[in-house]
Amino acid sequence: MSKIIPKSIIQCYDCGSSEVSFDDTKMHCSSCNSDFAVRGDKIVFTNLGDDDVSNSLDKIKYFVKKNPKFYIFLMDLISPVYRRDKVLKNLIKDVESNGDLVAINLGAGNSNISDSVSNIDIFPYENVNISCDIGQLPLKDNSVDVIFNIAVLEHVPDPEKVVSEIYRVLKPGGIVYSRLPFIQGFHASPWDFGRRTREGMKVLYKEFEIKKLNNLGGPTSGMLWVVQEWLAIVLSLGSKRLHMFWFMLLLVLTWPIKFLDVLLVHHPLAHNITSGFILLGEKPLNGGTSK
Ligand SMILES: [Zn+2]
Repeated sequence: MSKIIPKSIIQCYDCGSSEVSFDDTKMHCSSCNSDFAVRGDKIVFTNLGDDDVSNSLDKIKYFVKKNPKFYIFLMDLISPVYRRDKVLKNLIKDVESNGDLVAINLGAGNSNISDSVSNIDIFPYENVNISCDIGQLPLKDNSVDVIFNIAVLEHVPDPEKVVSEIYRVLKPGGIVYSRLPFIQGFHASPWDFGRRTREGMKVLYKEFEIKKLNNLGGPTSGMLWVVQEWLAIVLSLGSKRLHMFWFMLLLVLTWPIKFLDVLLVHHPLAHNITSGFILLGEKPLNGGTSK
C-alpha cells in the first residue's frame, strides 16, 4: 500500500492557503471556504471516471491499470521498449532506506512503485493518495524530498507547468526523476500531447541541476514501435478494429527484437532515435524560494 502524504504539507487546491483542516469526510479551507472530499486515506480534488476514458484501447488500459501487477507484467513482457533502468531502481532503494523522506509519484496511475512512495494521479485509483491535476499540486512550497514522474508528462497539455510545480514543492536539494518518450507511437492514456529530444529534456528541466540524462530503451526500441505501428496502419486497410488487431498481434510477435538494445543503448548515437529519456535532476540548494 502506498505511503500516506503527511497532512502538514497539504495546502488548499483552490487558493494555496495552508489554513486547511480535516475531518473524516472532508478537507476544509478557512481562507476561501472550499471543501474537498476525503475518502479514507485519499483526498479527492478532481472527479473523473470511466466516461473520461476515450477509446477502446484506453478502456483496456484503464481496466488493466486497476489490476496493476498483471498490467506491469504484461507491459514489461510485450512492450516494444527495453526498460532496464538502474537510475529508477537505485532511487527507490535510497527512498526505502530512509523512511523520513517524503517521496511522491506524480501520475502514478494505479501503480505502486514502492510502499515508501506516495501516489498522485488525476484518477482516484485505489493506490492514489491525492487525486488532482498534477499541474496544480495542493502541496506546500519546499516540502517534498523526491518526485517521480514516469511516462506522464507526454499526457499533460502543459508539461512546463507541471515541472514548475515540481520545482516549487521540492525542497532545495530535492530530487526529481523523470521519464519521457522521444520515438514512440501515439498512445493516448487517455491523452497524448508530446515528445522530447535530449536537448528538449534539458530545456524542460533547465531550473534543475541535471545529474543524469540517459536513454530509455535505445534505437531498437524506437524503431520497433514505429515499425509495428507502420505495419498495423498499412494492414488495417483503414479499419480501426483491424488496426488494433494487427497492432496487438505485432506486439506479441515482435517484442523480443527489443533486446538488441541490451547492447545498442550504449551506442554514442543511440539518443538520435531512442525510445525516450530518463532524467535525474536536483533542485539547487539556493533554489528555496517559490517561483
Ligand atoms: Zn482555499
